[in-house]
Amino acid sequence: MVNYVKYFQKEDIAATCAMTDVKGDRSLRPSEQVDPDLYLRIVEKRDDGIVVRGAKAHTTAAVPSNEIIVMPTRALRDKDKDYAVAFAVPVDAEGLKFVARSTVPRERGKMDSPFRSRWGVTETVTIFDDVFVPMDRVFMCGEWEFAGSAAELFAIYHRHSYCGCKPGVSDVLMGIAALLAEYNNVEGASHIQSKLTDIVCTAEEIYACGIAGSVQGKPMGPGTYVPNITLVNIGKYIAGTHIYEEIYRVHDIAGGLTITCPSEKDYFHPELKNYLEKYLKGKADIPTEHRVRAFKLAEDLTAHGFAGWIMVASCHGGGSPEAQRITIYRGYDFNKRKEIAKCLAGIKKFEEFPEFEG
Ligand SMILES: Cc1cc2nc3c(=O)[nH]c(=O)nc-3n(C[C@H](O)[C@H](O)[C@H](O)COP(=O)(O)OP(=O)(O)OC[C@H]3O[C@@H](n4cnc5c(N)ncnc54)[C@H](O)[C@@H]3O)c2cc1C
Repeated sequence: MVNYVKYFQKEDIAATCAMTDVKGDRSLRPSEQVDPDLYLRIVEKRDDGIVVRGAKAHTTAAVPSNEIIVMPTRALRDKDKDYAVAFAVPVDAEGLKFVARSTVPRERGKMDSPFRSRWGVTETVTIFDDVFVPMDRVFMCGEWEFAGSAAELFAIYHRHSYCGCKPGVSDVLMGIAALLAEYNNVEGASHIQSKLTDIVCTAEEIYACGIAGSVQGKPMGPGTYVPNITLVNIGKYIAGTHIYEEIYRVHDIAGGLTITCPSEKDYFHPELKNYLEKYLKGKADIPTEHRVRAFKLAEDLTAHGFAGWIMVASCHGGGSPEAQRITIYRGYDFNKRKEIAKCLAGIKKFEEFPEFEG
């Protein structure tokens, strides 16, 4: 593992993590599935390495990466030990196949789809068709006791990074909403200000959880830190559950042209341009084209294919909201809170409370 880290840093390679298995019947453990390949597993152990079979879902940025790092997606039991496997392989390893898709790309034009014509994301179904992994690239091989903590550790860092990146999405969403409020000249209306403030609160709550999670992080092993588990899970939980409301606020503030704005072909058509310049005008001192461009961005990011991606990615990326709830509940000290309630209710004396300071 340490050698691999050294190689990784020396070569400055890019890798993605394929953790989420396709999982088949969600109510069954890996070894209980009708088809044993629905979680990635070791099918052969040799002196020089292992052979693995299975498939991972939703692997982000696998295609443009140099390497794929694989690890178990959940806690395992003794019977599941063939599924306790972690390793790294280059993307061109024999038997490794990527079924890739990307986020609704569009041709670059003058005005339509300003975001999707420039940026996108790919995810893959990552298939391991009896892929050989040399032993020096195998990091877990049957040690099922560690699968749960490895998966949880990955999730903590992932959720922590969400606390940094997701507020960036909110910045874009509130930027669109604030701009269109200005162009429609409703930015002085109190309900518009309240709705913009709601988006700000969501963004800053998530960001604050990220910062607080870092500040309350603890050293873990040589040279590494782990952020506060509860706080970063709360940050990711807010991100995943509030995104729908954020997008709703943008729609509410922007107005219906978010989806009914004429195409650039019509807007720049010689016969139509003057009509559309005139009738799509908002606030008098704002060029119509600016307003139309802002609506195009709103449409691109909140009302078509990419909007769906943002919503589902926020909800499920880094684990579905229930995964965060479970982690938050399990790690939270409810007994301490019960003690507080007992003291306040007169069931227990304040002096008996462990953290009582007079
Ligand atoms: C855009 C995007 C990018 C992603 N990128 C990556 C990546 O790069 N690498 C990677 O490894 N993963 C990645 N993921 C995967 C992500 O972590 C999963 O989508 C997430 O963990 C949910 O798993 P799932 O999609 O299989 O949904 P499911 O697990 O099927 O969840 C659907 C619902 O069922 C519930 N559920 C599931 N199992 C049970 C159970 N046993 N009991 C009760 N309820 C249950 C869940 O809580 C949820 O409400 C990505 C996902 C998305 C959407």
